[in-house]
Amino acid sequence: MAPGFSDIIEEARLSARALLDYGESFFNPTVRLGVTGLSRAGKTVFITALIHGLTRGGRFPVFEALATGRIARAQLAPQPDDAVPRFDYENHLRTLIEHRCWPNSTVDISELRLVIDYQRHNGADRTLTLDIVDYPGEWLLDLPLLNKSYEQWSAESLALSRAAPRAPLAAAWHAELANLKAEGKEDEQATLASAKLFTDYLRACRDERFAMSLLPPGRFLMPGNLKGSPALTFAPLDVPADGTAADGSLWAMMVRRYEAYKDVVVRPFFRDHFARLDRQIVLIDALAAFNSGAEALHDLEAALAGILDCFRVGRSTILSALFRPRIDRILFAATKADHLHHLSHDRLEAVLRRAVTGAVERAEATGAAIDVVALAAVRATREAQVQRGRDKLPSILGTPVPGENAGGEIFDGKTEVATFPGDLPADPEALFNGEPFRGLSSTEADKADYRFLRFRPPQLEHDGSGEPALPHIRLDRALQFLIGDRLQ
Ligand code: GDP
Repeated sequence: MAPGFSDIIEEARLSARALLDYGESFFNPTVRLGVTGLSRAGKTVFITALIHGLTRGGRFPVFEALATGRIARAQLAPQPDDAVPRFDYENHLRTLIEHRCWPNSTVDISELRLVIDYQRHNGADRTLTLDIVDYPGEWLLDLPLLNKSYEQWSAESLALSRAAPRAPLAAAWHAELANLKAEGKEDEQATLASAKLFTDYLRACRDERFAMSLLPPGRFLMPGNLKGSPALTFAPLDVPADGTAADGSLWAMMVRRYEAYKDVVVRPFFRDHFARLDRQIVLIDALAAFNSGAEALHDLEAALAGILDCFRVGRSTILSALFRPRIDRILFAATKADHLHHLSHDRLEAVLRRAVTGAVERAEATGAAIDVVALAAVRATREAQVQRGRDKLPSILGTPVPGENAGGEIFDGKTEVATFPGDLPADPEALFNGEPFRGLSSTEADKADYRFLRFRPPQLEHDGSGEPALPHIRLDRALQFLIGDRLQ
């Protein structure tokens, strides 16, 4: 498609911004690290643990610059972008450490600047500025909409909603859709009703028992300050992917709003945030997907391909040719690995690697280095061998958050519980072929669904020498991949 006028203006704006960033980064080396992932993937916990570890000298043996003592100091600096909220680090940390509760999750973009004083391998003292940008993955999955017409998006969304396991969830919306006349006169009430049913369907897909990942438009589930505005009030229609709407029709109204969504939501996000990132970590609650079965896993794979496509969109602007390549490292991280025994951590990584490889084959090359890791930013469990009959089972111990779980069991928030977290298959292919992830031995599973158990953050032992480090799993490996090379 030939670039339109708005695309040219967009490119000009992007170029101006990149020049500014480039100039600043020349005198003051900066890495802008994007942290994203779908709702509840673990972004807030990850960023809090990462900042705490860097500023308070966490136990990071694999993060070479820190482990070898080359980092003299890492400290917070004033947040650089005036129009972006600051990541509420201090509050989140207090919630985690003092209250042993999980902090409130990401619902909007936020940012924090960290300044790292370090010594190069050759002995010279240097400073690296690390800007951490936290944003909902739902926004990222919107980027492919920039290259799609309303008709294409409608056709794709409808096809997805008609396939298993989504179809039953879409029944109410489909019934309403069957009564809508795309060619009929534009109608605000019908649009409102359809948008509401479509949003209900998207929300049902997000239910953790289904754990569907591919759900644009992202703001329908995370509307923020746009709630109720026309740009968020539209829905797919059953129209031909190459058709054109007649003036004044319901169809034309939907097209207008879809384009407004791109103008007021997607393009500003791309220009002001995404196009400025250098590195990206994508957090994935892979265990939730495993628990939901093979379909959720294939959905996850499609979402990963979608995400990789977004990075390609990012690179195809003229910017990348003019200035330094932007996102040049992407890390996919399966979070909450502390829900598994360490014997399964490599297997978790293998499943994610398999999903990413499939996605790389489907998406075109992004030009960025890609890696995967299974991590727990904050390790909430310990490991133990639990005697079951004659067997000793590799188990995890943790304090469940207070309340009642799906099995009707009541937890007081103080007592530790030992669970056998289940094994991931040695061959990742098995999960993709539909073999269920067995969370527990069946007798336990009958009693309570421990697979969905949430543990409280750990109790930290104070030994009197400053603030204790937060336990984690492989957070240091993630850091080494993301910024290790910039601290050489
Ligand atoms: P966000 O929506 O991506 O910001 O997700 P959060 O960081 O708020 O995490 C969502 C929930 O996942 C938290 O409330 C915790 O229950 C859980 N969680 C996140 N990270 C970890 C982790 O490292 N270990 C454990 N056990 N749970 C985690």
